[in-house]
Amino acid sequence: MARVNENHLKLPGNYLFAEIGKRVAAYKSANPEANVIRLGIGDVTKPLPQACIEAMHKAVDDMGREETFKGYPEYEGYDFLINKIIEVDYKARGINIERDEVFVSDGAKSDTANIQELFGLDCTIAVTDPVYPVYVDSNVMAGRTGVYGQDGRWSSITYLPCTAENGFVPELPKSRVDLIYLCFPNNPTGMTLTKDQLKVWVDYARQNNSIILFDSAYEAFIHENNVPHSIYEVEGAKEVAIEFRSFSKTAGFTGTRCAYTIIPKEVKAYSSTGEAFGLNRLWYRRQATKFNGVSYIVQRGAEAVYSPEGQKQVKELVDFYMTNAAIIREGLKAIGIEVYGGINAPYIWLKAPNGMDSWSFFDKLLNEANIVGTPGAGFGPSGQGYFRLTAFGSRKNTEEAVERFKTRLKL
Ligand code: PLP
Repeated sequence: MARVNENHLKLPGNYLFAEIGKRVAAYKSANPEANVIRLGIGDVTKPLPQACIEAMHKAVDDMGREETFKGYPEYEGYDFLINKIIEVDYKARGINIERDEVFVSDGAKSDTANIQELFGLDCTIAVTDPVYPVYVDSNVMAGRTGVYGQDGRWSSITYLPCTAENGFVPELPKSRVDLIYLCFPNNPTGMTLTKDQLKVWVDYARQNNSIILFDSAYEAFIHENNVPHSIYEVEGAKEVAIEFRSFSKTAGFTGTRCAYTIIPKEVKAYSSTGEAFGLNRLWYRRQATKFNGVSYIVQRGAEAVYSPEGQKQVKELVDFYMTNAAIIREGLKAIGIEVYGGINAPYIWLKAPNGMDSWSFFDKLLNEANIVGTPGAGFGPSGQGYFRLTAFGSRKNTEEAVERFKTRLKL
């Protein structure tokens, strides 16, 4: 009899987006004429930059000629892409990353979910709360999280609340943890850390032999000067941090799939006898076993992001979404709603008015204004009472949504 991995049975259903879908479907069937605007899901709506399209067309032609045809790619990515990543994303910011510290992949989702495989099952973990659910669920599947309580918390996870009260800056855990997941600019709150605030975590990790898993999928949206684009801008971070980046939101690659992870050679974890092992080589070995690389065509598309035209087009994309973010932020502030984020990230995190809980506000917004957002409670217990809107909609829908907030929502 094949026994199931019972860790998978512990996962609560994919409640959040399923429940949103159910409520929207029910509303639409009762109100078929309603024009519902969706500002809930974090997917982009603009097409790929022209530079990427052209590079991928050319790469398809390469695949059609014997002299330029490519079979299996390198597990860790082609030189042409890795060299650009090192030069533009790191060297230009004064950070030295070596070629074999970069691992190109099909997504930051898979990398942030898979990285926990390198660590012992007895490692303790901390996550910010609210949180991108992948970090938690991947550890549940591995059997590292204990039991799920009535309060929506796993018994073996340390939750680091990020709320308006602490300015969305997580405080250091009271008792020592081995692995710390940080995501800045943050999904869902849209908030960031300054370099000094991030340094507190790097120092903690160095003092405690902990490892920071730093997700900077939204790095391209940073506009303020004192916000670090990479954790390696902080001194000593190369000893203790792994960084995840993605082309998904930067260049509209959500459907094309390309990302990368940096694992400096200094980052180490320990065996039960206290022997140190570099995670860089362990990850290489893991990827070589379980992953056959990103397609040549897609990597050529990603490379084009770094060309002068690509950089210009990507900036236009980011600016477009950040104008949406400003429209939402300012529009909601004008009617007295407490808003956060939306300055260095494409997410606006708002406090549900009049002390409402997240789901009550979801229903109110859907019923009164026909707008769909994401209840903050779905991202963790500290998200209760908050609500996420995304800047990834069309300009028309974004403006219309703000207008409806002003004219239809009964505050
Ligand atoms: N990390 C965060 C914080 C995200 O919000 C997302 C997507 O929404 C991802 C990673 C996934 O990125 P990718 O599309 O590269 O898998």
